[in-house]
Amino acid sequence: MENNNNHQNPHAIIVAYPLQGHVIPCVHLAMKLASKGFTITFVNTHSIHNQIIEATSNQTAHDHDIFSDALKSGLDIRYKTVSDGFPLEFDRSLNHDQFMAGLLYVFSAHVDRLVGDIVRNSDPQVSCLIADTFFVWSSMISKKYNLINISFWTEPALVFNLYYHWDLLIAHGHFASIDNREDTIDYIPGVRAIEPKNLMSYLQATDTSTIVHKLISKAFEEVKMADFIICNTVQELEPATLSALQEKQPTYAIGPIFPTGFAKSPVATSLWSESECTQWLHNKPPKSVLYVSFGSYAHASKNDIVEIAEGLLLSEVSFIWVLRPDIVSSDETEFLPVGFEENIKGRGLIVTWCCQIEVISHSAIGGFLTHCGWNSILESIWCGVPLLCFPLLTDQFTNRKLAVDDWKIGLNFCDDKNKPITRKLVSDKIHRLMRRKSGDGDDELIKNIKDVKRTLENALSLANGSSERNFHRFI
Ligand code: UDP
Repeated sequence: MENNNNHQNPHAIIVAYPLQGHVIPCVHLAMKLASKGFTITFVNTHSIHNQIIEATSNQTAHDHDIFSDALKSGLDIRYKTVSDGFPLEFDRSLNHDQFMAGLLYVFSAHVDRLVGDIVRNSDPQVSCLIADTFFVWSSMISKKYNLINISFWTEPALVFNLYYHWDLLIAHGHFASIDNREDTIDYIPGVRAIEPKNLMSYLQATDTSTIVHKLISKAFEEVKMADFIICNTVQELEPATLSALQEKQPTYAIGPIFPTGFAKSPVATSLWSESECTQWLHNKPPKSVLYVSFGSYAHASKNDIVEIAEGLLLSEVSFIWVLRPDIVSSDETEFLPVGFEENIKGRGLIVTWCCQIEVISHSAIGGFLTHCGWNSILESIWCGVPLLCFPLLTDQFTNRKLAVDDWKIGLNFCDDKNKPITRKLVSDKIHRLMRRKSGDGDDELIKNIKDVKRTLENALSLANGSSERNFHRFI
């Protein structure tokens, strides 16, 4: 597809779900499609846009168009924002359920107006709508404006498949009954066996009346009407699950969707201001530093944070710890042990946010203590960094199963989620993860992660690599 005749370019509207872990892959998808000749109109909510601008304002200017630097390289990406139905000052994280209710019941009217406007006034003509799978209005809006309806899934196919078969889980009594069954689930197409403890947290619930359940249930009714599904995963990593989905609907595994070469993305996507970490890392020996982050969304208990802090001290391993100010969900802002920051001087760096990709691709990073967000897992594999897995919420339990049980590229942080973590356990696990004796060769984790990394690289970079092939077939 050539970029020199604008009138023949396909034009896609991409609407990003308003959470950090969704905006990032959506932006990368936009860049990738634009680099193949698509015209893209990318839509963020006002609130996400504002947060990005605030986060970047004291670093690089972005002219209030996050794609302005990408435009310089000739990509046709137009940028729009839309109201999510709440005023900018409304605290979406604190009023989470109200925000979800807005996304479920109110947001569609705003998107409808904007899409209508873009469709009426765009050249080239808009041909498709690419919306995050968690949106509940894609089929209604794409039908109304006669657009191809493409659902973009930013998590593993396994997670998609489990939500897709929500009804089967209920029918078998593994979900949404007062006493959910605890035996192995072996009836989901494409999933040989999965234990209930590895389901997403929302599918471990006994009650489906929450707003999040209503949203997911509606989203997965919607996705069954999509013309195409594209997933940020790799065919070779989840072959059976993807094959089962492909029997139901046209589904393309096109991941991992990263900016090529892993240079820092030219598009600002961080919702928080990034601290510089690389200077600090330059002074550390190769593979000596543990990176610790629980992503953008999940909360941990104060007790867990204290034990992790004490365990890091005990381990004597160097570390960078991304500690969001809201990591503990209660009002507590003082959650670190007294004197902690003094005690770790030189050995530990605490930041509220950083450019994760830049940090974990540094040669000094030797391990990642992670909440198992899907982007974090893909990025860690790409950088060949083994994982210490501490899932907290939503898909993270299922992602942990893939990383630890299936691909064997990570260790469990705590093997029994009912047992509180202790500083001794934290320290022991860090030692196991960071152990380097006679080089890399004899470390099973390192060998496995190198293999999985190669799978990802091949999928993307070989001419007939699966993700590259799927991307072209999709186009
Ligand atoms: N991230 C980042 N800086 C940080 C922490 C996270 O840039 O300090 C990025 C990370 O690279 C990933 C995303 O934020 O792309 C988090 O997505 P993930 O799916 O791992 O977790 P979520 O935040 O959705 O729980």
